[in-house]
Amino acid sequence: MVQTPTKASISKGEEVKKMTKFSISYIRVSTKRQTNAEASGIKRQEEEYQRWLCQHPEYKNLDGVEFRDLGVSGRGKNSESGALSIFIREAEKGNLPPNTCLVCSDMSRLTREQPYEGFTLLKRIWDLGHTFAFTEGRWRGDIITGRERGILGLVEIAIDTASTEWERKRDRTNGYHDKVEEMLKKRDLSFFKSRREGEKISMYPFWLNFDENKNEFYIIPKWGNLVRRICDMALTMGAKKIAWKLKKEGIKNVSGSFFAPNTLRQTILDNRSVLGEKIHRSKSYTGIYPPIITPEQFESINSAKEERILKPFKKAPKRKMVNLFQGLIFCSHCGGLMQVAKKEQFKCKKSNQKNGEKIIIQYENIYCDRAKTKRTCSATNSAPYIQNHRNIDNELVILKKISNHRWEEYFTDEKHENDLKIEVEKRQLFLHERNKIEQQINYLKKANIEYLKSGRVVPIELEALQKQEQKKYDVLDKKYKRAILDIQNLKRKKTGVQARKDIQKRVKSFIEKERFDSEKREEFNIWLKEMGLIIVSNIEITGSNPRKSINSNYYFDIGIGMFDFITGELRGLNQVEDTSFALGMDIEEVRKDQVIRDEHYKKVSLEVSRDIRFPKAS
Ligand SMILES: [Zn+2]
Repeated sequence: MVQTPTKASISKGEEVKKMTKFSISYIRVSTKRQTNAEASGIKRQEEEYQRWLCQHPEYKNLDGVEFRDLGVSGRGKNSESGALSIFIREAEKGNLPPNTCLVCSDMSRLTREQPYEGFTLLKRIWDLGHTFAFTEGRWRGDIITGRERGILGLVEIAIDTASTEWERKRDRTNGYHDKVEEMLKKRDLSFFKSRREGEKISMYPFWLNFDENKNEFYIIPKWGNLVRRICDMALTMGAKKIAWKLKKEGIKNVSGSFFAPNTLRQTILDNRSVLGEKIHRSKSYTGIYPPIITPEQFESINSAKEERILKPFKKAPKRKMVNLFQGLIFCSHCGGLMQVAKKEQFKCKKSNQKNGEKIIIQYENIYCDRAKTKRTCSATNSAPYIQNHRNIDNELVILKKISNHRWEEYFTDEKHENDLKIEVEKRQLFLHERNKIEQQINYLKKANIEYLKSGRVVPIELEALQKQEQKKYDVLDKKYKRAILDIQNLKRKKTGVQARKDIQKRVKSFIEKERFDSEKREEFNIWLKEMGLIIVSNIEITGSNPRKSINSNYYFDIGIGMFDFITGELRGLNQVEDTSFALGMDIEEVRKDQVIRDEHYKKVSLEVSRDIRFPKAS
């Protein structure tokens, strides 16, 4: 073993007789969470270190160096990547003064490795010429150099104790998680506890509470509505912007502070619990919570996010939202979403003047995203969106179309708001029930596979149960999809002539005052989405690009979209009402008629798994 010279001086001067030794404090708490218990744990360890310094005047704190492992377990990870490993690495490089003492409260903080590994780790410290000290228990802060009589035995016992203690704790935790897993599989929620007003429970999301009598979760209206709204916002803006907007409105989270972008992402936008899923040991259990949004909405939020990542300029908070109709304007050829791209070009100031003065021209084009990025649509041409140098402003054209739409025919019901709310609640309920059964079906399927795997015959009861659950699922699935349709229908209804006037007023004031304000654009986009109207853009598929010619062949249509019953894809605008209107038919009758017809179509479509209203894809 390498002997460490205790009197070796690190300074050149001879006046230094007694070498100053240095010490480093090592603090470890096992969770990153800033709980009171952890905070006081850190504080206590800090105080212990200060006291130790007082008791050992020959030591000086090595300024600027303090080791802290917050949220690291004492086994495995901290010997590879934690502070202890950094200490050893720095010591190996010779970056620490000789005889540096690593001070921590007890052995279990320093290492929980199994005795052999733990001992190797400590021996490494000694071999490098350093020491350690424990402030707690019988160690009483004594400096341990490894040469004290009988010390190796004592250290071994301490390591052993720390190690066993850790294993026992781990087994206890594992046992608990095993039990939770079993119960979640069976949808037995009885281990959940309800929370009192304002109480933070990390077992389930903040917008939920648990009813211990019914063994069911329910949504706390205040928080549920907020989460729903945040999800709506996420269709057009990123977490940063949402956080900023909420702060501006003075909206705070459960703990009374403002939402941080990361919290929004972790707890809501990227969190599958909004779909009613509980993640346990990285496995997902559906139907545990009542869902806040539908899978379709979750999908839209994610594709909107990807969109923003692909086009990072949209992240800039003050930047104008280029496509006012983001998520509302579809390609007539493939039913996919249209995008707007901003471009810049050098142009001659006067046309037909080749070597004349050049100016930069900014313009915006609209194109089918699938045609450009996925090549799954043949409408590869783009059309002008706004091109000031050519006096083209199709955004304004579409806005005027919206203003002139026959809105009064869509809005007939005055109780609209209330009906809509009831329908939305119904939809969420069906979805929740459906998810619960889905979980049950998955469980039965697994049981089935287990039987097959072990070469046993699947019991008839199990098969019967599976069939029965599947039936229940189908019924609920139909109800859920029906509710989605009802909501779409309801959204079209409002208050007739008054609604038309309101809409015209809103569009007019937007055109006059708000169109170039980025924030107002976003608000307007959300408002349009709530109206249920969509825009279809038809750009002629030609060899030549329409954006190059002023007489390009494109047009925009607005109306109610017809979405495929099965795939959810846009298949076109509902032309029935327009045609009937032109023919002077009673629109109310036409509509009633259509509801009945649609219902029939839907039933047949679901049976054959294809929307029969449209021609079969070749
Ligand atoms: Zn397309």
